[in-house]
Amino acid sequence: MGDSVKRLAVLGSTGSIGRQTLQVVRRLSSRFRVVALTAGRNAALLTEQITEFHPKYAHCASEDAGRLAAEVLSPEEIASHDDVDCVVVAISGNAALAATLAAVRAGKEVALANKESLVMAGELITGEAKRNGARILPIDSEHSAVWQCLVGEPQPPERIILTASGGPFRGYSAEQLAEVTAHEALAHPSWQMGSKVTIDSATLMNKGLEVIEARWLFDVPFDRIDVVIHPQSVIHSMVEFADGSVKAQLSSPDMRLPIQYALTYPERVANPDLPQLDFATVGELTFEPPDLAVFPCLEMAINAGRDGGTRPAVLCGADEAAVGLFLDGKVGFGDIPRLVNAVLEEHRPVATPSASPSLEEIIAAEAWARERVSSMSTEAGRC
Ligand code: MG
Repeated sequence: MGDSVKRLAVLGSTGSIGRQTLQVVRRLSSRFRVVALTAGRNAALLTEQITEFHPKYAHCASEDAGRLAAEVLSPEEIASHDDVDCVVVAISGNAALAATLAAVRAGKEVALANKESLVMAGELITGEAKRNGARILPIDSEHSAVWQCLVGEPQPPERIILTASGGPFRGYSAEQLAEVTAHEALAHPSWQMGSKVTIDSATLMNKGLEVIEARWLFDVPFDRIDVVIHPQSVIHSMVEFADGSVKAQLSSPDMRLPIQYALTYPERVANPDLPQLDFATVGELTFEPPDLAVFPCLEMAINAGRDGGTRPAVLCGADEAAVGLFLDGKVGFGDIPRLVNAVLEEHRPVATPSASPSLEEIIAAEAWARERVSSMSTEAGRC
């Protein structure tokens, strides 16, 4: 690119991460030009964003979107377009997979907030990124923290320690957990996020998915990735080195910081919107081990990641469907791990264990898992 203005495509611009990305862009407007915006269902907000940012290209998945004041291209076409320097992947769920792959194959800078693409297709995506000179810049706060700790370190880390807030039900017994409602589960104590990731935080599935993400992002084996519960959400993750030294990244829990770091890397830029950390107010930082018996999703996810093949895709599909049923009031909170586990046990991988699955096999496994969860829950409903 000739000038220093970074040309951004924001995929999923009307979701939680997408809106916060545009807040950062608004603040640092001289650095960025928004050339493309895409949305799923929220056509009204997308139209507002198009009026404000004047992107050349746009896409809305919703059929009643009406006419958009920009040229309509698919998310994959946008992700690989010559007019785009950096693709912000803020789409949630498996819908991001094709666009993320298109972006890395086109050698783009990919600011990645979506978890599922690396969880389901980490080997494929990081392999293609390497081959095509694409750079994956993590937006997830834990991975941004690890990345920030690794800057300037020539040696690989000994250990990555991902922190987890523990969610709203930290300290609950299994019996208490069985009674919780979607309303309670959506009240996260420290982070403002979309509803799927908020429920995943409450089950600790989110942390399990983040362990798999970390494995691919930083090319570190599973046995060197630990999880510790840190309820204050001030330390966003840590890295331990060969000499036993541990680096941590601290800040107020605000997603705009990891978003901004991915967009301005390697520079750090002052932004008056970003809250300063007041240690006197924070008071204390505490740590405890995760309760694996009460929150089985954490281990379930890590095991699926270790098994590899299509199992992480099955995990994602089953969890997506189970969380959807829980949010609709159709199953209980404790049914989420039960359904995911049942579907994982039923899954017979198509690929041989040594071969890594193709994109088609990954997508098919994810769809199969979603479908199995919904039929299992209707079967159970009839009994
Ligand atoms: Mg996170």
